[in-house]
Amino acid sequence: MIEPATLRTQPAPGRGCGTCTLCCKVYDVPAAGATAGNWCPNCKPGRGCGIYEARPQQCRDFLCLWMTQDYLGPEWKPDKARFVLTMDAATRWLFVQADPGAAQAWRKEPYYGQLRRWAAAGNRPVIIFVRKFATALTAHGEAVLGEIGPEDRLVLRDLAGGRQAVEKMRINA
Ligand code: SF4
Ligand code: SF4
Repeated sequence: MIEPATLRTQPAPGRGCGTCTLCCKVYDVPAAGATAGNWCPNCKPGRGCGIYEARPQQCRDFLCLWMTQDYLGPEWKPDKARFVLTMDAATRWLFVQADPGAAQAWRKEPYYGQLRRWAAAGNRPVIIFVRKFATALTAHGEAVLGEIGPEDRLVLRDLAGGRQAVEKMRINA
């Protein structure tokens, strides 16, 4: 179980990106001209950043969960799993940002079963993104949330019978 107390902001001992560059494909990095789902124009896939010394602060600040959590085994390394794991600092929700070139990889085992177990054990949803398209996993199942825009927020609702569901809310609506 990924617990907040174990979250680190530094790489775990022995962890390094190696040939992985997947975070340079799956996220928006406006300062680098990168849009989610497409390789950043500065990326040399499998080799690293072509402007490493001058890379934007967003890139300097980023570490995926595999880099910081040493109990995530080699199968969770993003270039192997084909998705990047992060945890929202405020909500402790787990985010899966999938490589659009393998958009269903998270449904394979051992990933799907473990993601469901984390959602159930932590009582916190896991949100899977393919570019901006989101799917939520909770202890009670799976729900398609659709496109999430900059003005959308995801909230966890308690339903009758102890069930929970993730809903999309438009702020300023
Ligand atoms: S996704 Fe993680 S392991 Fe891969 S390059 Fe980014 S920080 Fe490194
Ligand atoms: S600027 Fe470099 S580190 Fe940042 S997303 Fe692009 S390739 Fe990756």
